[in-house]
Amino acid sequence: MIQLDVLSSFAICGAGALVGAAMLRPNLSDDVSIRESLRLFRNAFALVGVGLLQPAVIEMPLPLWSEAAMVYASFGGLIMIGWALSALSGGRRSRSAMWFTLGAVLAVVLAGLPAGVKGMNFIAAAGLVVGSAVSAWLGRRLCWHPRDMHERLLGVTILLMLLSSALRASYLLTWNGPFEPNLLYVPPAMVTPFALLYGVLPILFAMLLHNVVNARLQARLHQRAMTDYLTGCLSRQALAEGVPTLTAQARQRSGGLSLIMVDFDHFKQINDRHGHAAGDAVLRHAVTVMQRQLRGEALLARYGGEEFVVMQPVSDLPAARRVAERMRRSVEQANWSDVVPGLAGVTASLGVTLFALDEGLEQALARADEALYRAKASGRNQVQAALVAA
Ligand code: GH3
Ligand code: MG
Ligand code: MG
Repeated sequence: MIQLDVLSSFAICGAGALVGAAMLRPNLSDDVSIRESLRLFRNAFALVGVGLLQPAVIEMPLPLWSEAAMVYASFGGLIMIGWALSALSGGRRSRSAMWFTLGAVLAVVLAGLPAGVKGMNFIAAAGLVVGSAVSAWLGRRLCWHPRDMHERLLGVTILLMLLSSALRASYLLTWNGPFEPNLLYVPPAMVTPFALLYGVLPILFAMLLHNVVNARLQARLHQRAMTDYLTGCLSRQALAEGVPTLTAQARQRSGGLSLIMVDFDHFKQINDRHGHAAGDAVLRHAVTVMQRQLRGEALLARYGGEEFVVMQPVSDLPAARRVAERMRRSVEQANWSDVVPGLAGVTASLGVTLFALDEGLEQALARADEALYRAKASGRNQVQAALVAA
């Protein structure tokens, strides 16, 4: 079995923390809280790294100031990690409170210097317990309400840190051997497990953190792909991904689905007369107006340009037609001059069809499109139902 001495494991832990600090790239994220969190983690890791690596280049026996620096780095680093965890879980905590706490930690370490090696050891043990308790408290949302596996593992690592600190402190309180500047007073059999733990902890932390941040970025990208940037309604991709769920729900209820295609009338003229920005404002308001006519389960997606599609759990054509008619009327009756000064009115044409649960979206869209074409050809601002049954 490998045997690690305590100071070597601290040096490994310090090197791991520096590697962790170098791995973190706060600027790669455009999310403010992730950026803030990564910056704090990087600073915390750098502090722990420098603090724990410096004894490696100092001649033995270790001077008291070097031990004090190790104590400050671990205690202060944990406090900063707490602030970083809080930022990661979306909390907004004052930075000045963190600097004040770090100042208080420094004062405690300096005040402990006259008590020598023994005093420093007690401050180290108490500092680790307090520091990891603060971290666990500030990161409690990650510990108790993790969003995914990565956050759960990060929470477990924080609790492991707290547990190991408490265990270390309890060993120190019952210690009756001599005091040496190695800060780890555990039974000989426990030295290697502790040394290994401290050796891998910062790298493990940095890796888990990377996973958490990546998972969040991925979720945001997915969310963006699902949302139409201009209007905030669903994207075409979200509609395609939502259809299987709606179909499964309809099957469960033994109900059906219907589909409505909406195309705004003479939209080019709105752009030409009032400008493209006004056209954008019309689309945004039109989504709000149409959404009000739909029930919660209905999906409203922007299909492209000024065309929208509604998929809803309505199983007969007259009922689906009534919803489409309500949408048409709500667009026609909206107060458009409030949205774009001088804009007299906006209308839309709509095509409706039932959706057979075993058909593809494209087939139903083709029928709705045909109905929409007839609505346009018959003078616009009206609803037409598909002639071909689903
Ligand atoms: P019709 O009644 O036959 O549908 O006439 P239309 O002018 O609406 O028909 P067409 O499909 O030819 O034109 C659609 C216009 O919608 C053309 C395009 O400039 C405009 N458009 C598409 N997407 C956007 C957008 O995101 N913002 C704005 N402002 N205009 C858009
Ligand atoms: Mg069009
Ligand atoms: Mg149009």
